Amino acid sequence: MKNSAVWHPYCQMKTTEAPLEVESAEGVVLTLKDGRKLIDAIASWWCVVHGYNNPELNSALVQQMNKVSHVMLGGLTHDPVKKLAEKLVAITPQELQHVFFADSGSVGVEVALKMALQYWSNQGLTQKKKILSLYGAYHGDTTACMSIGEPDDVMTSAFDGILAKQLFVRPPSGFNDLASAKTAIKELKNCLEKNGAGIAAFIVEPIMQGYGGFNMYHPYYLQEARSLCDAYNILLIFDEVATGLYRTGKRFAAEHAGVAPDIMILSKSLTAGYIGMSATLATTKIFECFYGEDLSRAFMHGPTFMGNPLACAVALKSLELFEKYDVANKVLEIEKVLKEDLLSIQHPSIVAKRVLGATGVIEVNSKIDYDGFAKFAAERGVWLRPFATYIYTMPAYSISIEELKKVTQVIQDWFSQK
Ligand code: PMP
Repeated sequence: MKNSAVWHPYCQMKTTEAPLEVESAEGVVLTLKDGRKLIDAIASWWCVVHGYNNPELNSALVQQMNKVSHVMLGGLTHDPVKKLAEKLVAITPQELQHVFFADSGSVGVEVALKMALQYWSNQGLTQKKKILSLYGAYHGDTTACMSIGEPDDVMTSAFDGILAKQLFVRPPSGFNDLASAKTAIKELKNCLEKNGAGIAAFIVEPIMQGYGGFNMYHPYYLQEARSLCDAYNILLIFDEVATGLYRTGKRFAAEHAGVAPDIMILSKSLTAGYIGMSATLATTKIFECFYGEDLSRAFMHGPTFMGNPLACAVALKSLELFEKYDVANKVLEIEKVLKEDLLSIQHPSIVAKRVLGATGVIEVNSKIDYDGFAKFAAERGVWLRPFATYIYTMPAYSISIEELKKVTQVIQDWFSQK
C-alpha cells in the first residue's frame, strides 16, 4: 500500500494486503464495491451493536441535525447532553452520579486517569502518582493509556523509556475459576501492601480483558478488589469501553460482581458505532473533591467535541433501543448459540474456547493456525478478523440467529477442513 494516502491502523503498510472496499452497509451486512456481501461478525470493532443503516438511529440523527449539529460545551449546554448524562446516571451503578463526555474510548480513559490523579493531589496526597493495572490489559492507544496496557507488547514496544512507569499485577482467568481469582487477589493484596501509599487508582477491564486475549475472569476478583481498594485508599476504575452495554451478557460487566467502581468509562456501543463518544462517570465523592472557588482545583480538560449533540442524540436513541428490543434477552440467545456451536469444535491446534454474552473466542496455538482464515471466511460471506492467537466473534446484537449460524458454521468449517 505504498501509494495509499490513507495510513491504516495496526499494520505494516508494506506487507499488508489492500483492505476490502465497503460501498454500503445494512443490518449486519457489508456490501463491498465489487458487489460481494459479507456478514460483519465483529460489529466494526465491537461497536455497531444495532446494525448498520439503522432507521431509528438515522432518524434520531437527522432530527438532531436539523436543530443543531454541534455546539461547544464551554459556557453552553443543550438538552441532548443533559438528558444523556441523566440517563447514564440512572442506568449505571447508583454511586456514579456525574458524567464527563469525550470523543473516544482512549480519551475517556485519559480523563479517568487525570481525574484519579488530581483527586488525590487536590487533597494534598501528591505521592499517589502511580496507576496499578493488570498484565494483558488494553486501555487505548494514547500515551497514558499505553502506559497501563500490557507492557510486553508490540503496541508499546517502540515507546520504551518514554511511557510513565506503572505497576502491574497478574489477572485471574476463567469466568468460573474461583481458585484463579483467589490467587490473583493474593497477589493484588501483596502489591497494595507494598506500594499502596503511592497508588492513585487500580484500573481493570471488568470480567473480560478485550484485546489482551479475551481473558474472562471470576466476579469474585472484582468484589475483593473493591474491598482492597477501600482498605488501601485507592480508587477503583472500571474500563467498560468494550464490556459496557451487554457485551458480557449483563448491561455492565460490573453487574456480574454487584460492585460499583469510583470511576467508569463507556464508549463503543454507547453510540452504536455512529459517532465517536465516551462517557467517564464518577462518584459524588470525586466530583466534590474538584468543587470549590479555586480554578486549580477544577478539572481542566475539555475536548472540542465533548457532548456533541449528534453523538448525544444517537446515544440516547441507542440506549432506548436496548430496552425496546429487549437486547438483554437477545444477548442470552446469542450466547446460547455461541456456546453450542463454538465450544463443541475440536481440533489439535485449539488451546482454549471461551464464550460469555455476545462474545465467542477460540484460542489457537499460533497465528499459523489461522493463516488464510480471514480470506476463507470472506469467500463464504463472513467478515472475521483474527489477531494474535484468537479467532473471535463479537457480532451486532441485532444479528438474526440464522446469520449467526452462518458465522459459527464458517468457524466450524475452517477447523474441519484443516
Ligand atoms: N479501552 C478498552 C477496554 C478498549 O477495548 C478500547 C478499544 N478497543 C479502548 C479503551 C480505546 O477505545 P478507542 O479505540 O475508542 O480509543
